[in-house]
This record gives sequence, structure tokens and C-alpha cells, in this order.
Amino acid sequence: MKYISTRGQAPELTFEEAMLTGLARDGGLYLPAEIPVMSQDEIAALAGLPYEDIAFRVMWPYVSGSFAEDEFKQIIARAYEGFGHDARAPLKQLNENHFLLELFHGPTLAFKDFAMQLIGQLFQAALKRREERVTIVGATSGDTGSAAIEAFRGLDAVDVFILFPHGRVSEVQRRQMTTPADSNVHALAVDGDFDDCQAALKDMFNDFDFRDGVKLAGVNSINFARVLAQIVYYFSAAVSLGAPHRKVSFTVPTGNFGDIFAGYLAKRMGLPIDRLVVATNQNDILHRCLSGEGYFKGDTIPSISPSMDIQVSSNFERALYYAYGEDGGAVAQLMDELKNGGFNVSQGAMEALRESFDSGRVSEDETLATIKHTLTHSAELVCPHTAVGIKVAEEHRADTPMITLATAHPAKFPAAVEMASDEHPPLPSRMSDLYERPERVTRIANDLGILEDHIRRHIAE
Ligand SMILES: *Cc1c(COP(=O)(O)O)cnc(C)c1O
Repeated sequence: MKYISTRGQAPELTFEEAMLTGLARDGGLYLPAEIPVMSQDEIAALAGLPYEDIAFRVMWPYVSGSFAEDEFKQIIARAYEGFGHDARAPLKQLNENHFLLELFHGPTLAFKDFAMQLIGQLFQAALKRREERVTIVGATSGDTGSAAIEAFRGLDAVDVFILFPHGRVSEVQRRQMTTPADSNVHALAVDGDFDDCQAALKDMFNDFDFRDGVKLAGVNSINFARVLAQIVYYFSAAVSLGAPHRKVSFTVPTGNFGDIFAGYLAKRMGLPIDRLVVATNQNDILHRCLSGEGYFKGDTIPSISPSMDIQVSSNFERALYYAYGEDGGAVAQLMDELKNGGFNVSQGAMEALRESFDSGRVSEDETLATIKHTLTHSAELVCPHTAVGIKVAEEHRADTPMITLATAHPAKFPAAVEMASDEHPPLPSRMSDLYERPERVTRIANDLGILEDHIRRHIAE
């Protein structure tokens, strides 16, 4: 499979090259040149298979040519062996026709483990073969950083540095980043906010001396390998509810549009998905856009579902690429307009988006009320992101079964959950000593020179 850029001006790459590169050289995001399609029989044959087997069948057409069949099977096996549930992504019934897809049984209790655990193994295998090392630097508001550290710790082909805003992540998130003892893991608490961390990371990628010197690589959600891993659970969930003979819909708590875009690809691959519903918190640029108001940036307002506090959803560019008929020039122009605040979506592209997507927005009060309501009526304690999804899903109920993605474990956001429900969500027993483990973290100034110098001095020879 070849990979092309959404902006049409970058060279075609293999899967492995696209994965190791991250961002395309024309500023665009990589996509497969063609979306592979599975027949109804092939989809029906997934029913009852272990998660790892479904993962292999769904992802293989995207990666063949870069990995051998057995090698890829072993990578998948290693990626998911540390999960705390045999089903990996179990489905739970919430009420009649509404289901929760639990994506929080990985090592850091959020859905990001599905992609990050796989990408860690893929990087290690590819770099070993090439006899190369890379330096992964990531910026995080919490979940991405902990998932990346957990995925790359102890792998000898990578050093991983995670920048997080000092004092602005939850205690569980911080401890997940600062307690791994592996020497290739470096948690950096930056004196600044998340935007500062992200800006510093972008500046490092634009500093070509530094970028080439340390062999900088990125694993944020624009990396296509991350989207790919997330396609799998749409298949496993739909098939367990009767697909391909029965349609299903999904509601997805959304920030950077990575998770729901994976659902869109599943649909294009032939999975009979009726609606894909985008659920946002008060940072609602996607809901406004899908309501026909254009794509215009606002200020990010902190919320109790912080992993969705995003005003520019990087993966939305991929959806726009298809909505604009795979016209890279049109996408490049929109992204230019975005630099000056935003753009209106053409009528044709709006119609294309509406063929697949619906949307809804949830206030802070509604999020708290939904946590309480879900506990009272369904005996499920859910995290605030999941509550945003449940609320929007209930507003979009139809005859088709609705599956809401439960994106994090409630214990990862105990303050909000307790405020809503008066229940303290306990950590799963496999990580109940998190609060006793020693922490290792470097507090560091929000200064590009100091950050780069620190990274240069701490990568292994
Ligand atoms: C990252 C994250 C999201 C948003 O996912 P996107 O792929 O960025 O849309 C939602 N919930 C939780 C718990 C997350 O960590």
C-alpha cells in the first residue's frame, strides 16, 4: 500500500515510511492511496474471533509490504498482551439498544493505549531492521503522554521525551508519566500550558539541525499508524452486534478527530455503519462546523473532560480531504485560511460530511448530570469524556443499535467523577500501587534552547 498526503504535494511513501515520518513535507497528513474494502463474507467471518485475529485481518492490507505476515501477528500479540481484559475492547449494554465499548483496559486506562501499544512495537521492529534509533518527543495534556511512555519504555531503539504542562495534568496522569523507571523514558514538566508544550514541539520539528541531529520522530494522533489501530474496535464491536447483517451507529467523544476518523475508514471499508456521531464538550468547533457554521477557531476553555479541550482538530483535515473529492489543492487552500482564523465548508463538501456524520455538544452541567444518571439508571460509573458521548448518543437514538465509545476509565478523572456522583472510582488492582511508586521528572523552562539542549544531552549514545 502506498501513502499520499492530504495536500497532494509530498512524495508517496510506504506504510513504514509514513509511520516513521508522521507529518508530510507539504504540511499534510498521510492517507492510504486507496481504502481497502472487505466483502460481507469477510466481515461475517470476523464474528467470534479473538481481538488479535480481527486486528490482523482488518489492518493487514494497510501494512503488507512493510511487515511480514508472521512478524505483524507477533507485533499485534505483544501490543495487547498487557491489557487487563481478555476481550481487549468489551461491549457492555447500557440500556435497550445502547451499548458502551470499553476502551480503557490498557496499561494507562484510556483508548490511546490501543494505538500507542501497537505503534511502539511497530517502531521497534522497523528500527531494528533499519539499524536506526529515533528520539520521540511528544506534547501532552495527559493521556497521550502516559500512553506513549508506557508503550515505548524499555525499547532500545527509541528515547522518549514527553513535555507536559507543570501542575496542569491530573495526579494519575502525572504519576503514569513519572513512575516508569526505564532509562529511555524522560518526563519533562514544562513551566507553561499545553499550547506552550505543543508550540515547543512544533519549533523542534522546524529546527532542521536539531530534527536531523537527534532523528526526531512524532507519535501524535496525526500519525496514520495510530488511526489504523483504532479501526479495529469498530469492527469487533459491530460484528458482535450482528454486522454485517445488521447496521450499527457509533457516538465518539471527540477532540482531535482521530478516533472518529478511524470509524469513518471502517465504514468506507464496508462495515455497515449507519451514523457516526461526533460528541464535543464546550470546545465545540466540530459541532459548529457540522451544523453548517464553518470551521472557525475559538479560545480553548478548560473543561472537566480535558482530553477534548481542543479548538483545532488536526485529523479533521483527513475527513475534509474525502469531503472535497480527494482534492489536495483544495485542502491546502483551506489550511491556509485556517491560519487566519478559519474557513467556510463548500456546500458539496458539507453534503458529503453529512452523509456519515452527526454531532452534538454537551455543557459541563450536562456532563456531571449524565455521570450521575448513568450510575443511577445503568449502574455504570463513567469518566467525563464518556459521559459527553452518552449524552449526545441519547439525543441521536434511532432504531439502529448505538455504540458509545468509553474512552477512559473513571479512575483516571476521579475529581470530576466524585463531584458528579459522590462515588470515588478505585484504580484497577493491577495499578493500585501507583501512588506509592517513586516519581522521576525534570522541571524545565518553556524555552526552546533549554529544551533542545536537555534532549541532546539525555539521549543514549
Ligand atoms: C484523546 C481522548 C479523546 C479524544 O480523542 P480524539 O481522537 O482526539 O478525538 C477522548 N477521550 C479521551 C479520554 C481521550 O484521551
